Amino acid sequence: MKVKFWGVRGSIATPGPSTVRYGGNTTCLEVRTDDGQVIIVDAGTGLHPLSLSLLAELPVEAHVLITHTHWDHIQGLPFFIPQFIPGNSLNIYGAFDPVTQKNIGETLSVQLQYSYFPVREVELKTKPNFTTINQRESFAIADATITPVMMNHPVINLGYKIACNGKTLFFTGDHEPPYNIYDRDDESYELYQSVLDERNQFIYEVMRGVDVLVADSSYTPEEYRSGKEGWGHGTFDSSIGMARDLGVDQLFFTHHEPTRSDDALEAAYREALDRCECNNDERARFQLAREGVEIEW
Ligand SMILES: [Zn+2]
Ligand SMILES: [Zn+2]
Repeated sequence: MKVKFWGVRGSIATPGPSTVRYGGNTTCLEVRTDDGQVIIVDAGTGLHPLSLSLLAELPVEAHVLITHTHWDHIQGLPFFIPQFIPGNSLNIYGAFDPVTQKNIGETLSVQLQYSYFPVREVELKTKPNFTTINQRESFAIADATITPVMMNHPVINLGYKIACNGKTLFFTGDHEPPYNIYDRDDESYELYQSVLDERNQFIYEVMRGVDVLVADSSYTPEEYRSGKEGWGHGTFDSSIGMARDLGVDQLFFTHHEPTRSDDALEAAYREALDRCECNNDERARFQLAREGVEIEW
C-alpha cells in the first residue's frame, strides 16, 4: 500500500512563503492499493494537483471517500480534472447527514450550482457515482476493505480504515476525542460517560494496531483550552495518546492550523514530543504530515 499527502492544512488553504515546506493545500490523501487502485480520502484543495497527476494514466477509475462536507474537505472536487474528460470513472462515498436529511450526492451537488461554478453537473463528461455509506458497515474497493467509523465533529464525520493484504491505514478526518461535558457530581455525568465509552470503544476497536494513523492534530493543548473545546479538533497530545494506546506503528499529525507557519509548526511538534516524553523510537515514528510526502509499506 502507498499513501501520498496532497493536502495537510486545516480549515482554509494557505499558500505562501511561510507554509511552503509543509504545504498550504487542504486535506487530501492518495492511497494506492497493492493492485494499484486509486483511493482518495477527502477532496480538499490538494485534490486539484492530485487530479492533474492522474492525467498521465487516463482512463482513471477513482474512488473518493469523504470524511465530511466542511469546505476544507470538499473544495477541490469541482476541480477534479478527469471529470471533464470522457471515459473516466469517479465514485464518491460519504455519509447521510441526519441533520439536513441529505445524502452525500445531494449535499455535494450544491458545489456545481450556477452561482458557484461555471460547469453544471449534467455537463460533466465523467459523471460522479455517489454512494451513501453507513458507519460500521465495511465495503470493498478493488483489493481494499474500507471500514467507516463515526468520529466526533460538529457535522457527521467518518474516519476510515483502509485495509489491503494485511496492511492498514486509519484516517480520522476532523476529530476531537470526546469528553464528558458534565461535572463529575452532575447527575447526567454517568449516563453521558457510558454513551461516550461505548462510542470510543468502537472507534478504538477499529483503529487498534493499524500500521499508519493520520490524525487531526490541529491544536496545542494550550490553544485547545483557550476556548476551542467542542470545535471538533484534536491536539498533538491527544494524537500521541491515541497512537500509544492503540499500538500504532506510524503516526502522522495533520490538519495543520492555517495560521501556523512552517517554523511554528515544527516548534509545536517538538514541544509536543518533549511534553509527552517521547523516546527516540517514538520520535522517529511520530511525524508531521507534509504535502508531497509518499510512504509505502
Ligand atoms: Zn477540516
Ligand atoms: Zn470539519
